[in-house]
Amino acid sequence: MTIGVLALQGAFAEHEQMLERLGESTFEIRQRRDLERSMDGLIIPGGESTVQGKLLRELGIFEELKARIQGGLPTFGTCAGLLLLARRIENDARIHFAAMDIAAVRNAYGRQLGSFHTEADFAGAGKVPMTFIRAPYIASCSGAARPLAEVDGKIVAARENHLLVTAFHPELDENPTVHTYFLNMIRKKG
Ligand code: GLN
Repeated sequence: MTIGVLALQGAFAEHEQMLERLGESTFEIRQRRDLERSMDGLIIPGGESTVQGKLLRELGIFEELKARIQGGLPTFGTCAGLLLLARRIENDARIHFAAMDIAAVRNAYGRQLGSFHTEADFAGAGKVPMTFIRAPYIASCSGAARPLAEVDGKIVAARENHLLVTAFHPELDENPTVHTYFLNMIRKKG
């Protein structure tokens, strides 16, 4: 399969490495003409949601990508990518793709706990390492959105049909469980 990785800013290279390790092809989406390539799935990496949102619009790729995401393109958003996909961000008026029925809280862990590492069950697939970096969490899932993982009573991963989000960064750990889950979603096995 071929996965497009949004590569405007943030931790995109680590997603590419993980997918290539799993035997998949990737290409980077940096400008409008990159959207001419066909892709089986899309990854929106962690980084800074406000910066990515601004660049997406300035580069003229926001509307096209939004239409594809809403039209069924399997999409996996990590951290800032989660914020870009959320229908609502409780502490930020800026809304981006608004594709997924989740309400997120941005920079939700405060300054003391800006970054931390833990392990928790993911989608019944056992414990996976979870690295959080100035992460959001999901305050609520509605409609067809379902929680897939929780840490300390907060939802940190969710799925809604063809959309997957994690508040943590699975691409920064060696464990391939979350990326494998996404690939199985695309293959309609999961
Ligand atoms: N704090 C970032 C934001 O608001 C997200 C952090 C991350 O992606 N690691 O977009």
